[in-house]
Amino acid sequence: MTDATCPSGRSGRCGAAEIPPNVGTVPYGGAVDEMVLVPARGDDPPEPPDHGGAARPPVPPRPPLGPALSPSRAADFMTCPLLYRFRVIDRLPEPPTTATARGTLVHAALERLFDLPAAGRTREAARALVMPEWERLAAAEPELAALFPDEAELASWLKSATAIIDAYFTLEDPRRLEPAERECYVETTLDSGLRLRGYIDRLDVAPGGDIRIVDYKTGRAPREAYEASALFQMKFYALVIWRLRGQVPRLLQLMYLAEGEVLRYSPDESDLLATERKVAALWKAIERARDAGDWRPRPSKLCDWCNHKALCPEFGGTPPPLPEPALPGAGMVRTT
Ligand code: SF4
Repeated sequence: MTDATCPSGRSGRCGAAEIPPNVGTVPYGGAVDEMVLVPARGDDPPEPPDHGGAARPPVPPRPPLGPALSPSRAADFMTCPLLYRFRVIDRLPEPPTTATARGTLVHAALERLFDLPAAGRTREAARALVMPEWERLAAAEPELAALFPDEAELASWLKSATAIIDAYFTLEDPRRLEPAERECYVETTLDSGLRLRGYIDRLDVAPGGDIRIVDYKTGRAPREAYEASALFQMKFYALVIWRLRGQVPRLLQLMYLAEGEVLRYSPDESDLLATERKVAALWKAIERARDAGDWRPRPSKLCDWCNHKALCPEFGGTPPPLPEPALPGAGMVRTT
């Protein structure tokens, strides 16, 4: 891989001006054919092919799936067990906000950008994707369109999304990249039976085979004291890729687009073994909480952004009765 991390060593964060060209003279390329990718959504096996009118062979029963965990839900439990419960066990709806919708739109536009031939991946081309992607998203999810009471608010919000796209171009040049995968669903099962899964925004594979995992963020970059928790998600993905391919990713790259910051980390096997132990311990804690029905609130500054504050005992609320039976092993929603 011709990419370079920040001069500080295995990890570092760089502002736009400090970031070296991310590819050098050789574009990333190559497929990841050997990577085990499973169907993007849902757990059902694909339909067997139609055999020209003959009776279809019976689909063999699939063994029951084990419990699963995504990095987002793992982070929820670490932040606040009650928040995890609200999201995973109660499955309480969370309406979109202008901030989450902006993240969705920016991710969609950046994903589409790489559909274009390399030379055409300009800032102008990316800007031109914003409106059609918004129209597509709003048509698919009317709740998004309802966020904007009038055209002026929508226009202002679209401008803010376009500004993030512009900022992306200060961090890297997509004309010099050829991602191996985008919005890539990955899943692996640990020896314990716990499935780890999630979506990776972008996977780059260098000609020499080095792997880079890239995640786009549209929110604020964490302060240095919180970098470790930001990197947990990336190490989680790195662990999954390692288990799938037998290769430790060379670089984990978190791109805080709005602030023009990149957090990079080069993991090694001991990092990923530690992540596996952490995930296993976390899952045991989740199982204990589930078995005891004890999902304690853990108040923090993040409560200000919690959708379920009104139901939280810390703020005078009462959680709904636990559904029966609780959903053992539930743990996966779209990672964000
Ligand atoms: S308000 Fe805070 S303590 Fe309560 S569920 Fe949400 S994150 Fe947890």
